Amino acid sequence: MAFVLPELPYEMDALEPHISKRTVEFHYTKHHQGYVNKVNGLIPGTGFEDASLEKIIKEADGGIFNNGAQVWNHTFYWYSLSPDGGGEPKGKLLDAIKENFGSFESFKEQFTNAAKTLFGSGWTWLVQTEDGKLDIIKTGNANNPLRNGKNPILTCDMWEHAFYLDYQNRKPEYLEGFWNLINWDAVTKRMK
Ligand code: MN
Repeated sequence: MAFVLPELPYEMDALEPHISKRTVEFHYTKHHQGYVNKVNGLIPGTGFEDASLEKIIKEADGGIFNNGAQVWNHTFYWYSLSPDGGGEPKGKLLDAIKENFGSFESFKEQFTNAAKTLFGSGWTWLVQTEDGKLDIIKTGNANNPLRNGKNPILTCDMWEHAFYLDYQNRKPEYLEGFWNLINWDAVTKRMK
């Protein structure tokens, strides 16, 4: 059973001015679609024919892991964002952020700093650890916290293709835009 590119939950120009239509077009129809095509091409004959992306993330290696994880990571990224996003979380997520990071402002600063200092291509994540605490982690390339038993609830794509057309090397400006787009309702629903 082949994987398909999930629908975007908004129009391609909906994240402007923070992320341009041109970036979303390339990122979604070329990069995300490319990972879907590649993993589908690699799976036949490997024992992963009926595997979920989660199973691939936990158990596969090489190209199947890299492309399968990138399919999952990008879907998770798109659904972490919304044209109606931004501001601050509420309820149990805000409570957990305060408990783990002191304040929303402190969390924002720590997450932004982690993203800015990620060397090379990768992802910055807000996760729940096995003991239910929140933590900020960064992973290189396609790597995903599910592989280490963590529950990701928010991610920021720090591959250059996510921001280069709009911001070139100005990561802090991309991240400012990202904070204006975070869909806190979706993030809260991912908490266990
Ligand atoms: Mn990407």
